[in-house]
Amino acid sequence: MAGAETALIAAKNVTKTFGGKKGLLALDDISLDIGEGEFVSLLGPSGCGKSTFLRCLAGLEAPSAGTLSLDGRAISGPPERLGIAFQRDALLDWFDVLENVLLPADFGGLSKKAYVPRARELLAMVGLKDFAGAYPAALSGGMRQRAAICRSLLLDPRLLLMDEPFGALDALTRDQLNVDLHHLWLKRRMTTVFVTHSISEAVFLSSRIVVFSPRPGRIVENVVLDLPDERRLAVRESSQFLDYTRHFRHLFETMGLIHD
Ligand code: ADP
Ligand code: MG
Repeated sequence: MAGAETALIAAKNVTKTFGGKKGLLALDDISLDIGEGEFVSLLGPSGCGKSTFLRCLAGLEAPSAGTLSLDGRAISGPPERLGIAFQRDALLDWFDVLENVLLPADFGGLSKKAYVPRARELLAMVGLKDFAGAYPAALSGGMRQRAAICRSLLLDPRLLLMDEPFGALDALTRDQLNVDLHHLWLKRRMTTVFVTHSISEAVFLSSRIVVFSPRPGRIVENVVLDLPDERRLAVRESSQFLDYTRHFRHLFETMGLIHD
């Protein structure tokens, strides 16, 4: 794990309760440092507070107790240079793909024109070069999600937050998008916090995996993966990879989340 002096994100004793003090405890005492350039997956079952934690990081929600900081400063609203991608791609149907990718420039009061080359470069990197002028309705689910990822990367985010971005895709498309995302991360090394409940997706993508318990979300494991920095598809057949997936599956079993 990254040392305190290099942490980009520092969460200390973060607790989140919904509906007042006696309400529902969603996150219980989460302490976690994330270093610049890491790809960290939050892995855990539905309802364990992953999205809540991500929304706190995005400054969209405040912890009930504890502190969250980015670069040493308390997070009190959406930080600058933040990229977000969710399960639902949230493309605007009345804009074409290029315009959708350019939206963050628009919202940021920046010149859209100045960002066109960057938008096109990102689209080319995920195989959407020829679809810049297409409307979202004409795209498959995978293509839409690729466009949404390009959008989240337009302003060269320092922090990328992804909440089950591939959860709605078929298995094959999901595999390909994992590869595409991995290439983008290798190239740009944006600090990424990726929420998933897929063990193999987490092991394929991550430099570190943080496992949450069922609600209330607590950190039960924090594992730096000892896998090659650059992941090829074949890594998924390696014994190290299979050891990791087996390990996390057993952990889920001991938490009572899967059984025969
Ligand atoms: P996950 O993303 O791991 O599936 P969530 O963070 O969405 O989990 O939710 C954690 C728990 O908090 C769940 O029990 C959920 O119902 C509850 N929760 C999430 N958001 C709210 C909210 N805005 N108001 C009340 N309860 C919420
Ligand atoms: Mg969620």
